[in-house]
Amino acid sequence: MMISCLPADDSIEDIYGRFFYDFRTSGFEGDIDCSQAVRAVLSTNNSIYQIYPEAALFPRHSQDVQCIAKLLGQAQFRDVVVAPRGGGAGTNGQSLTNGVVVDLSRHMNRVSVSAKSLLTSGKRSGGSFRSRETLDDC
Ligand SMILES: Cc1cc2nc3c(=O)[nH]c(=O)nc-3n(C[C@H](O)[C@H](O)[C@H](O)COP(=O)(O)OP(=O)(O)OC[C@H]3O[C@@H](n4cnc5c(N)ncnc54)[C@H](O)[C@@H]3O)c2cc1C
Repeated sequence: MMISCLPADDSIEDIYGRFFYDFRTSGFEGDIDCSQAVRAVLSTNNSIYQIYPEAALFPRHSQDVQCIAKLLGQAQFRDVVVAPRGGGAGTNGQSLTNGVVVDLSRHMNRVSVSAKSLLTSGKRSGGSFRSRETLDDC
């Protein structure tokens, strides 16, 4: 099967332009990417669908995710659409959006195990079976 050709479109809808303008001062430490290349990559996943996002955010840690949620909570950004993304292995296109992809697989992909209590462990939300296990507090 061939993936259809997407029209090259660098324009960003007004509301997303305003969102990213305000976002620059939100304290977000991850990556913001509006490039054609990244948008094209994130327009597909393990489904038959293809939806071109306005941009992608790559949070570095949970505080970055909070920054996104905080800004989304503002009335002026109520129409901004986001879709979290892990490996993109979901088969029904769930991680695709014409809004903003929040891709957790770039930075938030470690599995952490607390040495203080081996009974508790935490997996960051972009982690997969390939993620490296680390001992956080040794
Ligand atoms: C060959 C194959 C075998 C599979 N086998 C199984 C199986 O045995 N068992 C099984 O359960 N599934 C299976 N799946 C389905 C797939 O693994 C699941 O859909 C899995 O949840 C996808 O994870 P992902 O990180 O790739 O999520 P994505 O595809 O990136 O996203 C899936 C959904 O979760 C949301 N999401 C992603 N990350 C987050 C986050 N951090 N916070 C909130 N929402 C988030 C996305 O917005 C989207 O709606 C299989 C898929 C394939 C292709």
